[in-house]
Amino acid sequence: MDKFEIEKLRDLPIEGVAERLGLRVARHKSLCPFHADTHPSLSYRVSKNTFRCFVCGASGGTIDLVMRHLHVDFKEACRWLADEHNIIIDEWKPQTSDISHPAAFDASRYERFFERPWLNDEARQFLFDERRLDERVVRWCHLTSWKDRQGVPWLQIPYYNQEGQLVGVQNRNLIKGALPRFRFPQGSQCGIYNLPVLNRLKPGDALWITEGSSDCWAMLSAGHKAIAIPSATLLTRKDVELLNGLSTSPKGEDGRGLSFHMFPDRDAPGERLFLQLQKVLPSLVHHQLPPDCKDFSEYYLKLKAE
Ligand SMILES: [Zn+2]
Repeated sequence: MDKFEIEKLRDLPIEGVAERLGLRVARHKSLCPFHADTHPSLSYRVSKNTFRCFVCGASGGTIDLVMRHLHVDFKEACRWLADEHNIIIDEWKPQTSDISHPAAFDASRYERFFERPWLNDEARQFLFDERRLDERVVRWCHLTSWKDRQGVPWLQIPYYNQEGQLVGVQNRNLIKGALPRFRFPQGSQCGIYNLPVLNRLKPGDALWITEGSSDCWAMLSAGHKAIAIPSATLLTRKDVELLNGLSTSPKGEDGRGLSFHMFPDRDAPGERLFLQLQKVLPSLVHHQLPPDCKDFSEYYLKLKAE
């Protein structure tokens, strides 16, 4: 892990981190998890991105909060933060000696896996039993699976650019709660997910924006056209330009252009992502998830059960 990456973890919004840890934040305060607190005495300073408890004195930044709350060391806390926010930290990538010239992604090493996808039992259970995804979506996304030398099953998720070239691979750990949850081969560019769908858009179509690949599969399985954004802080300039281009794409003969829609996750980071995306896609429409669904995947399951 280099300084730059640690900096990125320190810069994650402290209140968002607290919420991901399960703390309830209201008016920049929450109950302090480090002493028996009955009135919220832990307060957040957004300007400094720090927390402090005025009763027990606990204080620090994002990494300290995770270390203390999950009882883990510095390294483990960094891993958790990176994992929760889809940040690729160096430790998970094979070492490159020259940091200014990171090794390029070697698509030829991975392409063949996605040409003949194979789903092991763990992957089938995850995709079809738990997530209840449409088989056509799993095929369209070229999802495949493998087991590493330790026998850990992984779901392998290819990222393509709009031209259909493989530009990155995301591996998702299929053992529940296991860390790291994600691994990325060297040089993977896992920016916007499911870009090939853009070639199928017609004027007047609705494009749904989701947070992360698994919500995207649920959205596609629900019959919508969808792409996924990893997290707003990770949007590259190229991604922003691409989204900008979409919002100004030519209208059809009936004068209708594309419309953009989102069900933000029911938490502060979800709403923040929506607001950030709205700056890039001003016409982005906000849809509200029902109170018992924290993300679209849960809502999709609920709809399937009805
Ligand atoms: Zn306290």
